[in-house]
Amino acid sequence: MIAIPGIDAILEQFRQPDYRARLQEEMTVAESIQVRTTEVVVSACFIVLGATIGSYLNVVVYRVPRVISLVHQRSACPECATPIDGRDNIPILGWLLLKGACRNCRLPIAARYPLVEGVAGGIFMLLYFLELISGGANLPVRPPLTATPGWCGLSFTSNGTSSASICSIACCCSRC
Ligand SMILES: [Zn+2]
Repeated sequence: MIAIPGIDAILEQFRQPDYRARLQEEMTVAESIQVRTTEVVVSACFIVLGATIGSYLNVVVYRVPRVISLVHQRSACPECATPIDGRDNIPILGWLLLKGACRNCRLPIAARYPLVEGVAGGIFMLLYFLELISGGANLPVRPPLTATPGWCGLSFTSNGTSSASICSIACCCSRC
């Protein structure tokens, strides 16, 4: 149910073939670089946020069945019980830097940990592109729009206001 409006929003971009080209013609090189940089930085933030939430989900999945506190206990190797350093606890990167093995006992750490973190990061990045760049196509409350898109890809109502209040966070469009 969530995916169908999102797919429709993506397809809508292709139904207007001159849309992106027209927007890029209106932008200066500096504005174009600023928009692209903003998109990359914000999408990277969404990936980090998603991977962090995925890391916490790993903790929940491991601890809840074993009735271990989710808050008051540091992460530890399940084999040797050595507490995991902060640098080794960075989602995805920690597992990669350790080459999938505990720093202390060198026994393998399951690949599902970075997998869950990566999938969660990917889902958050997808949500960023679907919701923010598509103008909130999947949001349950969406005001009627006219076909006058801004540089950020969001559409605007006839009085020039953005269709999504979050627009100004993610872009430098002059209409936001
Ligand atoms: Zn260990």
